Amino acid sequence: MNMSETLSAAGSESGFRLDDPVFVDEDLRMLREQVRRFVNKEVIPNADVWEREGKIPRGMFRILGDMGLLGMQHEEEFGGTQMGALASVVFGEELSRSSFGGFTSSVTVHTDMSASHITRVGTPEQKTRFLPDLIAGKKVCAVGVTEAGAGSDVASIRTRAVRDGDDWIINGTKMFITNAVYGDIVILAARTDGPESGARGISLFIVPTDTPGFKVASKLEKHGWLCSDTAELVFEDMRVPNENLLGAENRGFYAIMQGFEQERLMIGAFCAGEGAKAIELTLDYVRTRKAFGKTLWEQQATRQRLADLASKVAMIRALTYQTAAAKDSGQPVIRDTAMIKSVGPEILHEVVHGCLQLHGGTGYMRGTPIERMVRDARILRIGGGATEVMLEEVAKRM
Ligand SMILES: Cc1cc2nc3c(=O)[nH]c(=O)nc-3n(C[C@H](O)[C@H](O)[C@H](O)COP(=O)(O)OP(=O)(O)OC[C@H]3O[C@@H](n4cnc5c(N)ncnc54)[C@H](O)[C@@H]3O)c2cc1C
Repeated sequence: MNMSETLSAAGSESGFRLDDPVFVDEDLRMLREQVRRFVNKEVIPNADVWEREGKIPRGMFRILGDMGLLGMQHEEEFGGTQMGALASVVFGEELSRSSFGGFTSSVTVHTDMSASHITRVGTPEQKTRFLPDLIAGKKVCAVGVTEAGAGSDVASIRTRAVRDGDDWIINGTKMFITNAVYGDIVILAARTDGPESGARGISLFIVPTDTPGFKVASKLEKHGWLCSDTAELVFEDMRVPNENLLGAENRGFYAIMQGFEQERLMIGAFCAGEGAKAIELTLDYVRTRKAFGKTLWEQQATRQRLADLASKVAMIRALTYQTAAAKDSGQPVIRDTAMIKSVGPEILHEVVHGCLQLHGGTGYMRGTPIERMVRDARILRIGGGATEVMLEEVAKRM
């Protein structure tokens, strides 16, 4: 392998890893090993092609489904394993160590941010109808909340659902929806009461993407996360049966907020996994790259910079695991997940930029993992609640 081939492979030699917290038991360690093997075999060798194609092969969801990895948020009677938040964090961290944030986002939107709404607030009939295929990876799920005019301010969405006999007729648009170009089901937020009702007039619907009136207006071109598909959607007189109303009418906003808890926890796992991976790749580089007669690692400033970044990754990882354990034991974690989301992506931003700096000009070249990781990390400060919005959520609870 020449230098550029070495740098374009996301695998590495140093194996930089942080120890597991004490409450990570044997089952979770086995899960970690299982996901790691999957990432090394299926993702790292192939995902550069997926990035170029802007698409993850369906077969990946099927493999993950066959391994039982898509059902950790779901009950056993529908094909899940109901392993809980800690398991999802292990899963998200190991996927993130692939260094392909687009792959991680697509898979975890499916597992932890969309289909999980069906388990949380769905009826037994809805669970029976939708969950087995989603857990098996036969169908891919998305969550459609954001609109061009309403992102951070979820309560101001305008997509409208109006009751018509046994159906709802939905008109409106959605923006930036992960998995919605190629996916099969969207958990859709729509206004079921007038705009004056704000957060109290929103409901969720389970919408198959082949419903007449559902249209992908465009597949969006992004700065990073290139292998995950992102859609702008339009709904024109889209008729959805009332049996697909998910959760109680006009209670959708609260279901979305509950979903955000899990999403923000997962973003902590991404920050831990991607941060550790960026440091690992950089350790490999600085231990061989020479300047001024010695390796970069032998320059004290380099070592200390990496030690500082590694310590920050360890902190966000510790808070993420502790919060997941608290969630599994039934404690409220809304403030802690907002803390994770407010600080984790800021730490990751510092880590990936610091690591790119240590790669010198090489790190600025397309095709190196660290260059892609810098692009992929950027969205985490915005999506799922921008840093500033999260700081407000923390401040409200101080
Ligand atoms: C690649 C990608 C994938 C996505 N996937 C999905 C998806 O699957 N489903 C979905 O529903 N949405 C998705 N989103 C949308 C994402 O959640 C929103 O972009 C995010 O919530 C921010 O909303 P906005 O873009 O409208 O920014 P705005 O709400 O317009 O905010 C712009 C900026 O203003 C600042 N700001 C906002 N509010 C405040 C405040 N109160 N105080 C101080 N500063 C503030 C922040 O810096 C923020 O970044 C995705 C977005 C992207 C880019």
